[in-house]
Amino acid sequence: MNILVVGGAGYIGSHMVKLLGAAGHRVVVFDNLSEGHRGAVTGAELVVGDLQDESLVAQVLESRSIEAVIHFAASALVGESVTNPAKYYGNNVVATYRLLEAMRSTGVSKLVFSSTCATYGQPDLVPIRETEKQAPVNPYGFTKLVIERMLDDYAAAYGLGFAALRYFNASGAAEDGTIGEDHVPESHLIPIVLQVALGQRDAVSVFGTDYPTPDGTCIRDYIHVDDLGAAHLAALERLTPAAGLKVNLGTGTGYSVLEVIETCRRVTGHPIPVTFGPRRAGDPAELVADPSLARQVLGWQARYRDLESIVRSAWRWHSAHPRGYDDRGPK
Ligand code: UDP
Repeated sequence: MNILVVGGAGYIGSHMVKLLGAAGHRVVVFDNLSEGHRGAVTGAELVVGDLQDESLVAQVLESRSIEAVIHFAASALVGESVTNPAKYYGNNVVATYRLLEAMRSTGVSKLVFSSTCATYGQPDLVPIRETEKQAPVNPYGFTKLVIERMLDDYAAAYGLGFAALRYFNASGAAEDGTIGEDHVPESHLIPIVLQVALGQRDAVSVFGTDYPTPDGTCIRDYIHVDDLGAAHLAALERLTPAAGLKVNLGTGTGYSVLEVIETCRRVTGHPIPVTFGPRRAGDPAELVADPSLARQVLGWQARYRDLESIVRSAWRWHSAHPRGYDDRGPK
């Protein structure tokens, strides 16, 4: 299939591009390189452009005979979405609207969209099922929920066939160590802890120790990026016109911040000092997926089932590329 991967130079998108190539698809990446890296795009054409440039997107869709779009491009930091919501409404809601309009005007009607467990807000029941109420507690989660609703309406009115995949915590790196996570500045737990192991930071700060969890720190469901990619491939095969799939992508197992740090100590052999700080605004205590719907409708389940194998793959990338993609020259 001819597939446009929007945001394909970013962390999750670049792993998707690699898997799509291996599965025999023809891939075009569309990315403005605001977060992504040229060096992360392997085996695909890269078009550098902004998603809000609807006519450029339409031209790419048409000229490359694109049949389906996988859309990863978004701003995705909870804290920043609180202080700078305009960026999130622009980059997430408005840009996705432009993409949908470009698809509509060119007759491209298949979309796989990166949604998030942040659309659930503070869940009533954990593990979280797709029937949980969606009541986001930060602008980031709300922008993704707005897009899910847009997709429903486009499906009903214009025949869009879509999947909204609600990721839990994306983590890990390609097994061959060639691509991985590289955010500047880094804000995610596992890469930050590994930066301590690399001597790039003195300690990791644990955000909050008074949550209602066994060790007082937040619990998350860490899902390997290649498992996310495999679920997208499965979703792509199951898209049907005028209908939407909405599924959680997680392992079903949660780990606390302290357990993540302990696992990183085991994998790296580094003592990894910690400091204890206050809670971070907008963080729910526990987010763990019930992944049974994904198993049912996508025939998918996570292959990386234990945190240690996920951290090992991340460590392979970070230890081989301590300066991330900077090791490979300029953007
Ligand atoms: N976290 C932490 N210290 C850090 C970064 C993150 O204690 O330096 C915690 C954060 O509060 C959350 C968990 O680690 O409970 C995962 O955070 P991350 O930013 O990786 O992902 P998120 O859950 O926000 O998508």
